Amino acid sequence: MTSALPSPAHLDLVEAGDPAFDDAVMSRVFNLRRPARRPAAVLRARSAEDVAAGVRLANERGWQVTVRSGGHSWAVWSVRDNALLIDLGALTDISFDEARGVATAGPAVRGGSDLDPFLAERGRFFNGGHCPTVGIGGFLLQGGMGWNCRGWNWAAESVVAIDVVTADGELVRADSSQNTDLFWAARGSGPGFPGIVTAFHLETRRRFEQLRQTTYVYPRELASEVLTWFHTARHRVPDSVELVVVGITPPLPPELGYEGSVVVVDGVCFDDDPDAAAAALAHLDTCPVVDRALLTRRCEPTDMAALRTEQIRSNPEEHRYIVDNAYLTGDTEEVVSRLVPAFTDLPTEKAFTLWFDMGRAPERPLDGLAISLQTDLYFAAYIVNETEAEDDLTRDWINATMRNLEPVSAGCYLGDSDFTRRPQRFMSDEAFARLQEIRAARDPRGVFPSYLLADGAELNRNPWVE
Ligand SMILES: Cc1cc2nc3c(=O)[nH]c(=O)nc-3n(C[C@H](O)[C@H](O)[C@H](O)COP(=O)(O)OP(=O)(O)OC[C@H]3O[C@@H](n4cnc5c(N)ncnc54)[C@H](O)[C@@H]3O)c2cc1C
Repeated sequence: MTSALPSPAHLDLVEAGDPAFDDAVMSRVFNLRRPARRPAAVLRARSAEDVAAGVRLANERGWQVTVRSGGHSWAVWSVRDNALLIDLGALTDISFDEARGVATAGPAVRGGSDLDPFLAERGRFFNGGHCPTVGIGGFLLQGGMGWNCRGWNWAAESVVAIDVVTADGELVRADSSQNTDLFWAARGSGPGFPGIVTAFHLETRRRFEQLRQTTYVYPRELASEVLTWFHTARHRVPDSVELVVVGITPPLPPELGYEGSVVVVDGVCFDDDPDAAAAALAHLDTCPVVDRALLTRRCEPTDMAALRTEQIRSNPEEHRYIVDNAYLTGDTEEVVSRLVPAFTDLPTEKAFTLWFDMGRAPERPLDGLAISLQTDLYFAAYIVNETEAEDDLTRDWINATMRNLEPVSAGCYLGDSDFTRRPQRFMSDEAFARLQEIRAARDPRGVFPSYLLADGAELNRNPWVE
């Protein structure tokens, strides 16, 4: 897959000192809480050939190379000191091979805003990120906790091939029969991936005809009862249902006479059969305090547009985010008692917490992928601030919340992590060792800088355990 490479003169390169530099570095970054780090230059790539030329240019100039697809990394991993930042924002082509049901998409394609409407016209679906603007590049490389991850597994498990620019600036295809080391690493290593993906080839699934949703909104005073019930009841819910409990402060009808945060139990069923959907969602009606719910919506029709509107409302643009997460494990009493404060004492009106049930997904073998650490319970906390002063006030809350969960934490998902704040394990020891071997073989000069850590912190370690 080699082709004539553009010379540096033909590249859209913005170097430090250029009036357009700051904009090129930060304008496509979602999180307004931004680092002081600065690259040496930004290459706005227009094609895979530009990407390859950029890597070669960086090799000549002794720069490391970082990558941006959708710009949604909470920790702004794309911005590192003295590197060449290759911005893939223009790589948004999408095509579809009808015979194979395989979509090919550029890394800056947004899973919900771009890919889903394209596939909907063809009666197909791909489980991209919940928030529609997340880029598929970073999302898939981390594994991708997409819609109904509980039933359909990691989105990266539906990647059938990738096109990759290597550390030498060569464009190659990686799949289950060629460059298999890169194919393995591309599904779970996230910012540790030693290459730049210029296109993803994705297996799509038949589009559902209808979605149904059950939602119970409980007063926060019932958090302990609700979470205790959820910890066991979830096992009975079929894997056609995406299942989540959220601590949030939504707008509530004034006639309810209830203010502040609530605990929401929500199930979205992807089963087309209305009777099967009703039976699956009926499990959510079994909570012992169900008749004390403030609001109830039982097995009502919904659609992706409505679900996405809610995601955009919860994750507004132009805000400063502090995010953390943990995979939890342990007995009901200990897990729930440690979780209750995270659902009842939210620090601000915009902050929210969630507890995803991952169903039976963690039980299956994950031999072919770098993703290797997961439990059946995923917790994440999202602080959504407007000012730096609010960051200072809320940081202690998220630190204390996550510290309180450490005795029942197994590790984390890269997608909601920031190792400069709190390092954690994200891979099994075996997978991590394999990734280091692949990185050493594929990128011996360290062109791709790997994970961003605080000074002195150790990678892939739970400091509170070891
Ligand atoms: C509002 C919001 C909602 C989210 N919802 C979800 C969700 O539902 N499920 C979920 O799993 N995650 C979710 N995330 C997390 C998200 O998946 C990760 O932050 C992911 O990294 C974003 O991908 P991106 O391409 O937009 O980010 P970028 O910031 O562009 O990329 C992040 C890093 O990934 C690597 N990378 C990206 N593209 C490439 C490439 N083409 N080649 C090589 N390396 C690359 C680079 O190290 C890059 O710095 C959410 C994030 C936000 C901000």
